[in-house]
Amino acid sequence: MDGFRYLNNVVTLALDQPTCTGCGRCVEVCPHQVFIIARGKAVLADRDACMECGACALNCPVKAITVDAGVGCAIGIISEWLRERKLSKGRYC
Ligand code: SF4
Ligand code: SF4
Repeated sequence: MDGFRYLNNVVTLALDQPTCTGCGRCVEVCPHQVFIIARGKAVLADRDACMECGACALNCPVKAITVDAGVGCAIGIISEWLRERKLSKGRYC
C-alpha cells in the first residue's frame, strides 16, 4: 500500500517492549510492516504506517501492544479518498 499512510505522529499505537517475548506474531499479522524483531524483541520500525486496525494488539499473547483500533483506519481511508479526489479535480480543471 505505497502512498497510503496515516498522519505523522498521531497514531495511538504503543509497544511495551519489556513485556514483549519476541514471538513475532505482530510481525505476521500487521498488514503495514510496522514491526520488526530485533535482538529478540518487537520494535516499531515504521510507527506512522500504522492504520490502527488493531490486529497486532488482538494477537499479542502478552498484551504488550495497545492501540485505539478503528478510528485511524477510517480517517486514513477518508483522507486518502479526499486526496485522490483533489488530485483528479486538479487534472481536469
Ligand atoms: S506479538 Fe507481542 S510478544 Fe509477540 S513479538 Fe509482538 S509485541 Fe512481542
Ligand atoms: S494496528 Fe494494525 S496496522 Fe497498526 S501496527 Fe497493529 S497490525 Fe499494524
